Formats: sequence, structure tokens, C-alpha cells
Amino acid sequence: MSVVRLTTDIAVIGGGASALALAAMLKGVNVTLLERGARAGKKLLATGNGKCNLTAVGVDGDGYNRPEDVAPFLLRFSPEKTVSFFRGLGLELRVLSGRVYPYSECASSVLDVLMAAAEENGAVIRTGHEARSVTRAKDGFVTEGVLLSDKGVEEGRFCVTSRAVVLATGSDATSGKDSLSLYVGLGHASRPFRPSLTPLLTDRESVKGLNGIRVKCRAELNGTTVTGEILFRDYGLSGIAALDLSSVYARGRARKGDTIHLDLAPDITEDALAERLGAHPDRSAERTLRGMFHSRVAERIAYRAGQRLDLPADGRALAAVIKDYTVTLHGTADASQAQVMSGGLRTEEFDNCLRSLRTPGAYAVGEALDVDGICGGYNLQWAWAAAYAAACGIAEDFPSATLTV
Ligand SMILES: Cc1cc2nc3c(=O)[nH]c(=O)nc-3n(C[C@H](O)[C@H](O)[C@H](O)COP(=O)(O)OP(=O)(O)OC[C@H]3O[C@@H](n4cnc5c(N)ncnc54)[C@H](O)[C@@H]3O)c2cc1C
Repeated sequence: MSVVRLTTDIAVIGGGASALALAAMLKGVNVTLLERGARAGKKLLATGNGKCNLTAVGVDGDGYNRPEDVAPFLLRFSPEKTVSFFRGLGLELRVLSGRVYPYSECASSVLDVLMAAAEENGAVIRTGHEARSVTRAKDGFVTEGVLLSDKGVEEGRFCVTSRAVVLATGSDATSGKDSLSLYVGLGHASRPFRPSLTPLLTDRESVKGLNGIRVKCRAELNGTTVTGEILFRDYGLSGIAALDLSSVYARGRARKGDTIHLDLAPDITEDALAERLGAHPDRSAERTLRGMFHSRVAERIAYRAGQRLDLPADGRALAAVIKDYTVTLHGTADASQAQVMSGGLRTEEFDNCLRSLRTPGAYAVGEALDVDGICGGYNLQWAWAAAYAAACGIAEDFPSATLTV
């Protein structure tokens, strides 16, 4: 098999959000992105249901697994800086309920401006290049791997010599693959990936007959409370509030058998609710509940409250169930349904420019590091902030490099 040999200043392994942002932020050095897929930034196209929620107003460390580690990166590259970075690349934006999207509401617009800026800065994006090993060499690194056709068939090998290397391989969320082992030989350890921002598997009784119904609620699991939409499924709970709670399980702060508490009427106190539901003793529980909930949710509430639907409503008993509808956690869906993975390279092995403290000249950015956030632009905000930190490090280490952000 033929071997393609290349030399570059910076070899970036991966061609996703953080890799493209890094390439869009740096010029004056040769940057080569090695992406195994047939195109770069494919996952970006799926983000935010195809609209790409690229950051949000007020993103801070609290939405992440390690708030104190992430906060300094967000201070250096805040959501406001993300907005000005993308505006600088020519992307118009719109803010919907505090979340920032491209004005077009098409994720492809985000990818287009990142690709254009990376190419304007002179970066080379090599698709169909899957890295299989990274080794230390004289004055730098050697990254070796295989050349893949658009259909993923091996067609040859490549060998890239570089002065610095950046691991930007993301996680195995959706793809089922994990490239963290590339850095083991450079002295790095990682925390195993676990699916996060993924549906919750629960007991069947709690969700029986509710498949497809959405409710706005407050949900609590082991002290973490989120407010938002829950989508009942046959297997458990989906929707943004459920995805956010899945991070509690992914981070090891909840176990199978723990109880999720759903407040199905978070904007009303239990006393006010009891009074409202019991205000018409002549009305059946069914008539009373259906004015407030989907008929199938109303049936479940009545069942849990031990109420017959055709008898007058016991406002106090119904309110107690509505304010604390309990569901037993059985786990989470697998990586194929996860938006991110919890776990990755240990952050304490990298400095504030995401330079390896084990092997000088090696960097890591994005989800490959052990950083994961909740829904709502937190994970892409981390990808941009991490890319900026590494770009600053490279600009310090390479006198010819300049930041374009
Ligand atoms: C369905 C979905 C919706 C999402 N929506 C949002 C959202 O709206 N807002 C938000 O903030 N976050 C969202 N996320 C999360 C967000 O997409 C990720 O956090 C972000 O893409 C991580 O960026 P990254 O650069 O670290 O990794 P990625 O974007 O995953 O890029 C990694 C790249 O590296 C490549 N790669 C991996 N291994 C190798 C190798 N050995 N050799 C060469 N290339 C390799 C992969 O093919 C991939 O292209 C969503 C995720 C999913 C799956």
C-alpha cells in the first residue's frame, strides 16, 4: 500500500467544531486538519436539530461537570466573545430565548464560515485521514494512519510529521468510536466515556400509555433540578430536561434505582393547585384534570392518586401527585443516542492553554477532554473556548503564528 508523507507545523487530529475553530483563529503557521470522515464538521450539521445552538447568554462554569476547571476558559472566551468571533467571520446571528443560533437557523451556515476562515488562514483540511497512532519524534511528532474512501474503505496509509499535535477527536457519541488512545503513548490517562445528554431509561409503569406526550415540568434527580420539556417515551423520558438529567447519571452522581421527581405544574404551589382542583366538588376528576393536562397524563395522575376518574376530584391527593410524580431511573440510552460523552482526557494533565503537561508540543481541545456541559449551547461554547485557549498557546510557542480573533 502506498504511504502519503506530509510535513506541517501543526497536525490537528479531527475536523470537527473545535478543530475548525482553531484553524479559523490562527494564521502564520501551517495547520493541517486530519479528518477521518468524508467531510469535515459533519456533527456540527446535526447540532440544535439542524439549527446549531452555538452558545447562549450567560453560559458559565456551572453547567459543566467541572465548573472550576472550565470557568477560566470561559472568562477568556466568553459567550460574548463567541458572538463577536462568529460575527467577525461574517455570520449573522439571532438569539431565541437566550440561545444563540445562526440567523439562517441552518447549522450549515456555521460550518461554511468556519471552513472559509480556516482556508483563508491557509489551513489544509484532509478528509478521509484516520489517525491510528501519534508518537514523539525528533523536534516534534509523527502521526500515522489510514486513508479512507468516502465509503470508509482503506485505500492507503499516511504519515504526517509535525512540530505540534492537537487532539480534536471529540467523543464517541453517535459514532461509537474513541480516539483517546492516541494520547496514551504521550503519557495521558482518560476517564472512560459515558453517554450524556441522552434519553433516560425508567420503569415502565410511570410512563405507561404516555409515549409521545410532552409536558413542561421541573425535574429533580439527587439534588440537581432542571426546568424544561419532558417527552414521555415507551422506554422512559426524553426532551431537554431529561437529557440534562442524564448528565447526573453520566457523571456518576446517580445510580439505577434512584428516583426522579417530576413537578408537572412548576408554576403553581401545591396548596394553590389543591384549591383549584378541588374548587368544583360537583366535577369529576376526569373533567377537572383534563382542563389542565393531556387526557392520558390526567389518567396516570388519577391512577397514582388512587382516584376514580368518574368521581369528584380530591384536589389535595391529585395536587400531591402532580407536584411529585416519581419515576424510577434504570439508566440512560447508549452512545448512539447521546449528544455528548462524559469522560475523556484528564484536564489536570493540561495547562491553561491546553498544552500537555506530559509531552510538550501536544495539545487537546473540545470534547476529547473530560469536559461536558448541559443542553443549550454549552458544549459548543466549550469547543470554541478550548480552541481559543490552544490557539493562544500555539501563538506563544510559534513566533510566526498570529491570532485572527
Ligand atoms: C445530535 C447532536 C446535537 C447537538 N447539538 C448541540 C447544540 O445544539 N449545541 C451544543 O453546544 N452542542 C451540541 N452538540 C454537541 C456538540 O456537537 C459537540 O460537543 C461538539 O461537536 C464537540 O466538538 P469537537 O470538535 O470536540 O468534536 P467533534 O465535533 O465531534 O469533532 C471530532 C472530529 O474528529 C474526527 N475524528 C475522531 N477520531 C479521529 C481520528 N482517529 N482520526 C481523524 N479524525 C478523527 C471525527 O470524525 C469528528 O469529525 C450536539 C451533538 C449531537 C450529536
